Amino acid sequence: MNGPLVVQKFGGSSLAEAGRIRHVAGRIARARATGAQLVVVVSAMGDTTDELLSLAAAITDEPDPRELDMLLATGEHQSATLVSMALHAQGVPAISLTGAQAGITTDASHGRARIANVEPRRVRAELDKGNVVIVAGFQGQRIGSDEGGQPGETTTLGRGGSDTTAVALAASLGADRCQIFTDVRGIYTADPRLVDDARQLDVIGYEEMLELAQQGAQVMQVRAVELGWINGVEIEVLSSFEDAPGTLIREDPLVEQRNKVRGLAHDRNVAKVTLLAVPDRPGIARSVFAPLADAGINVDMIVQNVGHDGATDLSFTVPRVELPRAEKVLAPVVAEMGARGMTTDPTVAKVSIIGAGLHNAPGYAARMFGTLADAGVNIEMISTSEVRITCVIEEASLKPALDALHGAFELERPDPIDADAALPRAG
Ligand code: ASP
Ligand code: MG
Repeated sequence: MNGPLVVQKFGGSSLAEAGRIRHVAGRIARARATGAQLVVVVSAMGDTTDELLSLAAAITDEPDPRELDMLLATGEHQSATLVSMALHAQGVPAISLTGAQAGITTDASHGRARIANVEPRRVRAELDKGNVVIVAGFQGQRIGSDEGGQPGETTTLGRGGSDTTAVALAASLGADRCQIFTDVRGIYTADPRLVDDARQLDVIGYEEMLELAQQGAQVMQVRAVELGWINGVEIEVLSSFEDAPGTLIREDPLVEQRNKVRGLAHDRNVAKVTLLAVPDRPGIARSVFAPLADAGINVDMIVQNVGHDGATDLSFTVPRVELPRAEKVLAPVVAEMGARGMTTDPTVAKVSIIGAGLHNAPGYAARMFGTLADAGVNIEMISTSEVRITCVIEEASLKPALDALHGAFELERPDPIDADAALPRAG
């Protein structure tokens, strides 16, 4: 067969039970009937990964990272074999492969490994035999024996990592298309579960998608978007439940002409830490942030106020799930440097406006802050990048903030240029 080579990825909710697996197999069979050669990457069924993590947590507080990866990888083994069997039952030749069998090698960081290389010889051989190749997502095998470990150990790619498996395979196979099937229709101007007027986008550029993903839009793993961008893989995000056009993530040729705000992102996994009356002297920032980095805690926004009387308040955000650990790490630091104390707020959220070219237009920041003010939303912290402005607000104000911003930037209205410029779609 010499049809187009397509990589498809199905997420956990699309595979949550046997009926859905049969449904997915039906979709795969239809795509194959059009003559396509198919590589199908799967996530674990439903909440399997969370359940496996809870099981491990019930056994021990500190599961060995190597054993944890061995455990988590089984979730994707299950779904890959079941999808393969469902295809057999429909008369479609298929074979399931682990990440390692598919030739995916990674570095040694268990739980958040990065792909080092993809050598898809076996995948190609199976395609040549006429098989649909089902690859267990989210995993690989480590190369190298640095830090005393063994090459060949099973690694996992971080939560949501099956997206990254799919994009990496598409890049290395030179696939004609990479389709991410999920439980929403595509990428929206805001989370459609929160904002009634949210509108699906036909196309979004890599850079904007990367910011959306980084700032909390959970449709795709950040690393997958990065890999797609680096390798120029055009990615289509679409629903596994309905036959509807999705959203293309690609180099957006119209980026310069667009309405500059393209979408809103929000994140509830945020907590704010404030260190009070920290002595104002060199080395203090290091003594706060180095121990957090050593503990693997990501610090995001940082605000240091103007000092008074040799002391200053220092605020920053950490992932909410990491707050208890951050407090533990910081308590001795605060005491040692003679700060007045530490306060924390686990009920904040981040809201971002995102659009390439935002930095060329100073009016956008003022419009965002004005809109939040009119909606009675207090801004606690602000940060910006070239294509984004983010505010930390009280979590309770999240929905009114999103609604107000969506309206103020007229995101419910399609870009007029999309109507004029008929964008070529993949496939
Ligand atoms: N099953 C893994 C997770 O839940 C990987 C994935 O879904 O992509 O994070
Ligand atoms: Mg998942």
